Amino acid sequence: MDDSLSFESFFEGAKKAAHRAMDDHGRSEHDEFALHAGVAVEKLAKAVLVSKNPLYIADIRNADMMLYLGNHLQLPAEKVRTAGAKEAIARLRRIGVLPQQDPQLDLLIEMRNGAAHATPDSTLAKGMISPLARTIETMLGDLGTPLDGFWERWTKAVQDAVNEQEDQVFRDVHLRIAQARHAFEDRFIGLPPEIKEQLLKSPQPRAEEHWIRELQIRDHSVVVLKSASGTCPACGGEGLLAFEPVAFTPGATTFKATGFGCYLCSFEVSGSDELAVLREAHVPDLMNSMTVTHGRTSPPEDLAMGEPQAG
Ligand SMILES: [Zn+2]
Repeated sequence: MDDSLSFESFFEGAKKAAHRAMDDHGRSEHDEFALHAGVAVEKLAKAVLVSKNPLYIADIRNADMMLYLGNHLQLPAEKVRTAGAKEAIARLRRIGVLPQQDPQLDLLIEMRNGAAHATPDSTLAKGMISPLARTIETMLGDLGTPLDGFWERWTKAVQDAVNEQEDQVFRDVHLRIAQARHAFEDRFIGLPPEIKEQLLKSPQPRAEEHWIRELQIRDHSVVVLKSASGTCPACGGEGLLAFEPVAFTPGATTFKATGFGCYLCSFEVSGSDELAVLREAHVPDLMNSMTVTHGRTSPPEDLAMGEPQAG
């Protein structure tokens, strides 16, 4: 079999692409950054798949590839095809190495495939350093390789860049809290204070939204949960947490909080980075996850709430 499909080759290729991505990032070349970052993730994903079984990188539309990877068939170089970036990531999600949901990683791969373009001053591409660093770290964890075994002289710069981005998210969330608060206060200028108090006590959300008190769990279908939880840092009303399913077993589905929103003042955050800021700075008891058990013996309303702040 071809050496280019070995673990070492994928690992070294991932390293080289990741180092290039950091170089591009420093020069503010965001299109190039997205491309190299995507290649780095793709190659490391394939290294992880190969480390488990060389067949796991086979392009499944091509049975010859499977036989070739199993060392029972010779193929000319131009016929050798492996799974694409998206598929490699999907396989790692399937076997629990990568989280089920990571919209930022999906976006990074779309940018790498040219399906989504980064503009020269794109804060989008700039912000991609966090999913790059996080995904690489998760995969290195699976391989048992320390961070500096991959990032080498870039190790500190990557950590600094992630911290800088977290600071940016922090500032951004706080600006939005102030904006939502001012807009909310402005609505009550000249009105008796009871009106505001009444509104803050009124139940959320709007009638057309599904939320957990009226939730139906159906077998074999994905349910997105919404639950009243936590005081809105902008207006003081009760905010809503949105959850998405992240893990399934035959008897239970685990949901992870992915966003927080308030219908009264329209303040909202989405994604794990922004939720982390909200939790640390304002709403420490914000629920992180919940597990819904289902099956013939458990009533559908049997909910086990995850520990606040866990994970
Ligand atoms: Zn609010």
